[in-house]
Amino acid sequence: MSKVLIIGAGGVGGVVAHKCAMNAHVFTEIMLASRTKSKCDKIAADVLAMHGVSIKTAAVDADSVAEMVKLIKSFQPKLVINVALPYQDLPIMDACLETKTNYMDTANYEPKDVAKFEYSWQWAYQKRFEDAGIMALLGSGFDPGVTQVFTAYANKHHFDEMHYLDIIDCNGGDHGKAFATNFNPEINIREITQPGRYWENGQWIEIPALSVHKPIDYPNIGVKESYVLYHEELESIVKHFPTLKRARFWMTFGQAYITHLNVLENVGMTSIKPISFQGMQVVPLEFLKAVLPAPESLGENYHGQTSIGCQIKGIKDGADKTYYVWNNSDHAECWKEVKAQAVSYTTGVPAMIGAMLMLTDADWQKPGVWNCEQLNPDPYMALLNQHGLPWNEQINGVLPHEY
Ligand code: NDP
Repeated sequence: MSKVLIIGAGGVGGVVAHKCAMNAHVFTEIMLASRTKSKCDKIAADVLAMHGVSIKTAAVDADSVAEMVKLIKSFQPKLVINVALPYQDLPIMDACLETKTNYMDTANYEPKDVAKFEYSWQWAYQKRFEDAGIMALLGSGFDPGVTQVFTAYANKHHFDEMHYLDIIDCNGGDHGKAFATNFNPEINIREITQPGRYWENGQWIEIPALSVHKPIDYPNIGVKESYVLYHEELESIVKHFPTLKRARFWMTFGQAYITHLNVLENVGMTSIKPISFQGMQVVPLEFLKAVLPAPESLGENYHGQTSIGCQIKGIKDGADKTYYVWNNSDHAECWKEVKAQAVSYTTGVPAMIGAMLMLTDADWQKPGVWNCEQLNPDPYMALLNQHGLPWNEQINGVLPHEY
């Protein structure tokens, strides 16, 4: 039915390519393009061997609007799925505007020289996308992405008013490496080392990085120390659900991970300020990325589960109510299905689902720029169950937070 162009051939791009190929009735022609074509070719070979579907590949520098425009014009996709890095969001959106092509991504724009992510840059495209009659769906991964769909679903079906939201994200898996990040190391370390932030009573409260933490018990995993981080979906969630008095995001880290991170930070390896080294300008964090394991290389021996969900307290029919909705994914199962670990899988599957809805569901086809919680959550929730991310819910259980 539709041609789709995937940009980025890392851990997430591989999953998106596999999942689109597994749904060839919707994605009738697929092209995977990235900076390094050999990575696209390797994924294409796996997709052909595992699912019997041929996908095209190409090299592109997505920082260049002109290169992106040329590629889009030659392939003429209905939709571009951007799973390269957040730095490429704006050039790819510009190329989509110029060619009147729909756009989707899994992470909001972040300038390369400042470790700061926020939606303002992409929300500024609202009118231009609307006027061009094309749609941009922002952040259709797991978090951002499914966490907003979970919140919208809770709001629609379980609450008259939501008051407290805690997004809890646990990786209880073990990849056997002393230190590695589960998605792009540069983006991941920039996210974790910046100050934490959460929403309370109409304002953002800023805290030193990783300074607020507590143990949380995760289904099928157990108790894990969980840290308050700033996470991008909080910005759009508190905008679209103004009854929330507090919204926080918690993520688990093991002590060994934090110790490695502290050491790397203390010796200056997480800095994004270029230094001069043997006559060259080197960004320490970019160099660190080059020596760490690539996220897509972690999958083969990974075992254990991830668990990501939303814990909400609010009011229904005049009474207090709590609601917890979550998904657990198993690293080894993900490897078996699409040769990826669960962090890439839980991002790539929602990217495919967002794309599928944009191509097939009238509720998900609206000119303009949208976050996932702004659209009807019901078909998204149904597709999660069908495509490998089944969810569970608990009503009126005791939640591990103070209110
Ligand atoms: P990787 O680093 O594994 O892959 C990124 C890919 O983008 C690589 O193939 C890289 O090419 C390519 N790329 C980088 N720069 C360019 C460029 N200028 N032009 C073309 N291609 C480029 O990252 P992940 O797959 O782990 O993550 C992909 C995206 O998903 C990131 O934006 C990340 O923030 C997001 N994400 C979202 C999550 C969510 O839940 N919403 C969770 C996890 C990740 P090369 O191979 O040459 O380096």
